[in-house]
Amino acid sequence: MKQNIIQKIEQILPQTQCRRCGFADCAAYAKALAYRTTQANLCSVGGNETAQKIAQIADLPVYSKIADETKFIVRIDEDGCIGCTRCITACPVNAISGATKLMHTVIENECTGCGLCLPVCPTDCMQAIEVKDNFLPRNTFLSSNKNPQQAAAEHARLRYQQKQAERLPETVEQNKKTLNINQLLSQAQQKTAQQKRISVKSNELAQQELQQQKQRSYQRHLRRKKQYGLDDE
Ligand code: SF4
Ligand code: SF4
Ligand code: SF4
Repeated sequence: MKQNIIQKIEQILPQTQCRRCGFADCAAYAKALAYRTTQANLCSVGGNETAQKIAQIADLPVYSKIADETKFIVRIDEDGCIGCTRCITACPVNAISGATKLMHTVIENECTGCGLCLPVCPTDCMQAIEVKDNFLPRNTFLSSNKNPQQAAAEHARLRYQQKQAERLPETVEQNKKTLNINQLLSQAQQKTAQQKRISVKSNELAQQELQQQKQRSYQRHLRRKKQYGLDDE
């Protein structure tokens, strides 16, 4: 039942994954709406029309109107790009191409104008360019929907899901790097060897200490013998 409502809400959300609603992505907002734990008017990208539709589906009131947002896409000033790849990581729909230490470019037809790349750029070389499009992204080929608004949203959602799926092998690779079994074994062996060396050293020290004590004891015995004229037992 709830799944049905979630799906219906997802279909009317713009799917830019911009997080302006305060949720991690459109799916998370749709879920919270279905369980009626949030408000219907938080998606500023969708605006009033989307808020009204959400309210109807989730049986929620719309408390206030949302101001219309100007749409934009992002462009990179290539002279300022240092190829840090931060924007690629931040982009939820893989709309940026580039490689480490190389110039990056926004694939404009894939840009949803979510703005998530703007704050991460260390050289401030990304610019938001206002556009007159009614819906973003411009590319819609991943969707077969005839409605241009829904086709754009579905295209963006599929790109987002694709990126999420790509991130999984990255995580596995990252874990392999941080949890390298051979490396951990070698570290453990080194530590054990060090501990043995410390143990041998302390044993030698203990032996030396014992010898010194024996010598001190013998010196005391000689002093007592001289002082009191005692014979060896
Ligand atoms: S498009 Fe709307 S629902 Fe999706 S993340 Fe942005 S504000 Fe939230
Ligand atoms: S390039 Fe476009 S879609 Fe990608 S993070 Fe920037 S604004 Fe969002
Ligand atoms: S975050 Fe800025 S500097 Fe880094 S790769 Fe992207 S555009 Fe270039």
